[in-house]
Amino acid sequence: MPAPVAKKTELDPRATGIELMAWDQLADTVAACRACKLCSTRRNTVFGVGDPQADWLIVGEAPGENEDLQGEPFVGHAGKLLDNMLRALGLSRREKVYIANVLKCRPPGNRNPEPEEVAQCEPFLRRQVALLQPKIIIAMGRFAVQSLLGTTDAIGKLRGQKHEYAGVPVVVTYHPAYLLRNMPDKAKAWADLCLAREIAAQSSSLSSGL
Ligand code: URA
Repeated sequence: MPAPVAKKTELDPRATGIELMAWDQLADTVAACRACKLCSTRRNTVFGVGDPQADWLIVGEAPGENEDLQGEPFVGHAGKLLDNMLRALGLSRREKVYIANVLKCRPPGNRNPEPEEVAQCEPFLRRQVALLQPKIIIAMGRFAVQSLLGTTDAIGKLRGQKHEYAGVPVVVTYHPAYLLRNMPDKAKAWADLCLAREIAAQSSSLSSGL
């Protein structure tokens, strides 16, 4: 008997008009998206969480197992560390902060995102940025940095400077999951968050005319 052939996931073209969508329509479109093969293994899409008027946008890589189960970004161990870092800045994931990932669906086994998956998902994050108009974006980890800044340079080389995505200042830092394994780099991540705070404050004073 011939070996069974693995069934190929039926995909749909990605939705059109994403660049004009309002929040609700965007969230519904993400929930229904079948534009890459991650739709066949996800339990939930993970759109993002937080304040739609947020000054700070945190961008991570992709949902892990806990996020896929709960439909919310950064709810595992790395998320606890992120929450603590936000608290140290006087912020929380529900006020003045919005948290999203480059990928809205979990790569199985937490493998690295594939370029095609990032390309299919990118318009969703771009629209989230356009709707939020945050004062600062913090790109956490290699995939967020690569996707937002279009560079393969190392985080160590990119941190400490102001970058830009869609007209919004971007600060680059280490991913909280990396920091859990490399505690000495936490001091560098704190310095990155302090730089982000400075940039956000500058843009607040510019917009208030002070
Ligand atoms: N890591 C990420 O980059 N995002 C999550 O939501 C969880 C873990």
